[in-house]
Amino acid sequence: MYEMFKEYDLIVVGGGHAGSEAAAAAANMGAKTLLITMDRHKVAQMSCNPAMGGIAKGQIVREIDALGGLAGIITDKSMIQFRMLNKSKGPAMWSPRAQSDRDLFTKEWLEALENIPNLDFWEDNVIGLLIENTKVVGVKTIMDIEIKAKTVILTNGTFLNGIIHIGEKHFGGGRIGEKASIGLTEELISLGFTSDRMKTGTPVRVDGRTINFSQLIEQKGDENPRTFSYTDTPPLKTQRSCYLTYTSDEVHNILRTGFDKSPMFVGRIKGIGPRYCPSIEDKIERFSDKNKHQLFIEPEGWNTNEIYVNGFSSSLPEDVQLKALRKIKGFEKAKIFRPGYAIEYDFFPPTQLQYNLETKRIENLFFAGQINGTTGYEEAGAQGLMAGINAVLKLRNEKPFILKRSEAYIGVLIDDLITKGTDEPYRMFTSRAEYRTLLRQDNADIRLTEKSFKIGLADKKRLEKVQYKIKEINRITKYIANYSINPSVLDQYLNKVNSPSLKQKVKLNSILLRPQVQLEDLIEYIPDLKSEIDKINCCKQEIIEEVGIMAKYENYINKEQDLANKISKYEEVYLKQDIDYMSISAISYEAREKLLKIKPTSIGQASRISGVSPSDISVLLIYIGKL
Ligand SMILES: Cc1cc2nc3c(=O)[nH]c(=O)nc-3n(C[C@H](O)[C@H](O)[C@H](O)COP(=O)(O)OP(=O)(O)OC[C@H]3O[C@@H](n4cnc5c(N)ncnc54)[C@H](O)[C@@H]3O)c2cc1C
Repeated sequence: MYEMFKEYDLIVVGGGHAGSEAAAAAANMGAKTLLITMDRHKVAQMSCNPAMGGIAKGQIVREIDALGGLAGIITDKSMIQFRMLNKSKGPAMWSPRAQSDRDLFTKEWLEALENIPNLDFWEDNVIGLLIENTKVVGVKTIMDIEIKAKTVILTNGTFLNGIIHIGEKHFGGGRIGEKASIGLTEELISLGFTSDRMKTGTPVRVDGRTINFSQLIEQKGDENPRTFSYTDTPPLKTQRSCYLTYTSDEVHNILRTGFDKSPMFVGRIKGIGPRYCPSIEDKIERFSDKNKHQLFIEPEGWNTNEIYVNGFSSSLPEDVQLKALRKIKGFEKAKIFRPGYAIEYDFFPPTQLQYNLETKRIENLFFAGQINGTTGYEEAGAQGLMAGINAVLKLRNEKPFILKRSEAYIGVLIDDLITKGTDEPYRMFTSRAEYRTLLRQDNADIRLTEKSFKIGLADKKRLEKVQYKIKEINRITKYIANYSINPSVLDQYLNKVNSPSLKQKVKLNSILLRPQVQLEDLIEYIPDLKSEIDKINCCKQEIIEEVGIMAKYENYINKEQDLANKISKYEEVYLKQDIDYMSISAISYEAREKLLKIKPTSIGQASRISGVSPSDISVLLIYIGKL
């Protein structure tokens, strides 16, 4: 039996979104990897909303895919509806979102993981770590098994000392119907880590056969659905609709009858919840002037009647939830499969981590996902992928793989977490990224695939595809910059899109500066351009889109890139880890304390620590002899 567990390069604890990406990346990079999770059939389970992507999160999924992670491919294989959000805004804001088949998502993940040769599985509950000096060397499980490994990644999600709340009832659990993880928090605290509590919640699941959909507003998927992955996953041919509806004063009044039993309002839940994903009772309380709140009614899959009521998350008593639900238009006869609930769990403030997601305290121990205080499958998956990659690089004695804030949302995510920490569940927004014009969903492969290929994750096929794409983008960009168009050729088109007609010959790229004019449309009217486009033999739509975006937004993009380049010089002014900050009396006391706690690796990182002022940075630059 124990023969099976000869020493691994890496053990990943927990097969959620973070753990699955971590295990896949590490094993695909050649590390002998063991994924220990409580139930293999629940890998990458969508604990809450059956959806991937959305604003800023869609960009993260594209980045995961561009780096050779699996979330994009699996999302494509299991989606039931696709929408590109924010299409009316500039391309920096476009965000792909998929409604997923919850069960199929997990099934596809399991199949993908089981097809990775270097990856073993063990179903068990990890309760402790094996530590030698200040290094992790393995884990112990509830079955009293010790398994050795050179590196360990913890991705326990919402399971650490998880407590589920429904009204006045509360019981242990990591998710409804699943056991909590007990022991690890206590062990980590004994090793000197600090932990805290957070909470999150989920809505009722409704039997779709009992909903009157004719009373709801239908929301169809995009006419031309796209995909998340840069590989050749096919787009959807048919889609399932989602629906919209609203709560009302009557619904709110019923919900209020349960407030005295609300675990949040009476103070039984101490953890802080996600600000941007509040429960319905929170919304009623916080926005008491609003007499209705929007709800998204989302199917849970292709072949199920289960319906997810997005926006109706609650931990009120189950009878109050049902009564209130039945006052919503279309839900008068609703039966539910299970009530909504809240869950409180431990997390570890992420300022205890280095850029590679390895803990500062224990060598070769990495944390990824919700354990770091984030919320969301995409944020978790991204961290898992980076932890998996970095664990392997550590084993190889190679430089860590760190993405800059100007290179990826994933870079923003990790820099925010380890530099600023978080005291509420952290989710990604486009507003968190100062270089969002650079970090678009359309160019994640151009930004990241080659980097991933160099460290041995993204395969040659991906690299060749992106190289071809770049070559063709450059070719068409050059062509439209040099091609002069006769005014009369575009009269009909410009008239159709309400744009003034041309008075003289102009270069094609200059007409694209007009907001109404799209490259895709011009192809129809200019045969020469069409024959150039026809020479493209792969990813045509993506190439046309990219050329169009670059032509329209070149100035903004260049300005942002210049700024990123200027600022990046501070990212390369490195700080030694043994600087005695407390001895630099010209730095404010608060800044000294923060610098000592975070131990930034560069002046750039130091400047982003809250409490460290520009004058503290000047002193620091003088101290290290750079000013
Ligand atoms: C009720 C609920 C509501 C949520 N609501 C939202 C929301 O509204 N919006 C949002 O963005 N996110 C929400 N989330 C969070 C979202 O589910 C997580 O962000 C995401 O799943 C985190 O991924 P993860 O991989 O870190 O952990 P998880 O997906 O939680 O996976 C953890 C995995 O580790 C395994 N595991 C844990 N401990 C051990 C152990 N000791 N030994 C072996 N295996 C272990 C578990 O079995 C599980 O498979 C919600 C989660 C829950 C539970």
